[in-house]
Amino acid sequence: MRFDIVSLFPEFVAQLAAHGVVGRAGERGLLSIHGWNPRDHAEGNYRRVDDRPFGGGPGMVMLIDPLRATLRAAREADPAPAKVVYLSPQGQRLTQAKVRELAALPRLVLLCGRYEGVDERLLQAEVDEEISIGDYVLSGGELAAAVLVDAVARLQDGALNDAESAVQDSFEGDGLLDCPHYTRPVEHELGSVPEVLLSGNHAGIARWRRQQALGRTWLRRPDLLDEAALSRADRGLLEG
Ligand code: SAM
Repeated sequence: MRFDIVSLFPEFVAQLAAHGVVGRAGERGLLSIHGWNPRDHAEGNYRRVDDRPFGGGPGMVMLIDPLRATLRAAREADPAPAKVVYLSPQGQRLTQAKVRELAALPRLVLLCGRYEGVDERLLQAEVDEEISIGDYVLSGGELAAAVLVDAVARLQDGALNDAESAVQDSFEGDGLLDCPHYTRPVEHELGSVPEVLLSGNHAGIARWRRQQALGRTWLRRPDLLDEAALSRADRGLLEG
C-alpha cells in the first residue's frame, strides 16, 4: 500500500516511516510512505502557502494553488488510484471498521491542514473524504495522519509477526474490547496470574477470555454491546 502525505512538515513523515510496525512493514515492502511539501509547489520568493481569512478573524488559511499543485504531483507519482483524505476535526470519526476499509485500498493521499485549516474550495474539489481522530482540536493534521497510517499499516498482510494478534484486538471481529493479558512471573507482589491461564485447558481459557472481554466491554464501553455480534452463550455469560 502506498501513502502520500501532504504536509508542511515532511520530516515528520520520515520519522513516522522509520519506527515500529510501520517501519518494519516498509522494510518488508508492504507499504511505502512519501512526503509532499506544498511549499515546494508554491510560487514567488516567499513560497507562500497561507493567507488571511476573508471576513476577518484570527489565524491563517492554507491557499488553494500550492495544495492543488501538490496533490496533482502526488497523484501523478503513481498510476494506482488514490483516495484523498483530509484529516479534519470535522470529518467522520476514525473507527477500526473504517481502518479496515482503508487498509484494503491500494493508495491513500493524506492531506494535513495547519493554521485555521484549508480553503473550503480546495476541499470541495479535491478531497474524497474527511476523517477525524476524535472530538478535540490538534494544531496540525500530521499527528492524525500518523495515527491513521499506523492503524492501517498494522492490518497489511505480513505487517504483524503474528496475524492473530490483530484479530483478537479490541473492536475487531465481534466488536468487543480485548481481554486482560498476563506474562511472567506467575507470582508477583502486585498479584497472581489467574489460574485458568496456567491450566492448559484451552476451552477453559477461551471461555475465561470471552467472559473477561464481555465483562470489561459491559463496564467500560457498554455502547459497543449494542453493535457486538453476541451468541446466546455470550448473553448467558453477561447475565450470569
Ligand atoms: N479551524 C479548524 C476547525 O475548528 O475545524 C481547526 C484547524 S486545526 C487548528 C489545524 C489542522 O489540524 C486541521 O486543518 C486538521 O488538518 C488538523 N486537525 C485538528 N484536529 C484534528 C482532528 N481531531 N482530527 C484530524 N485532524 C485534525
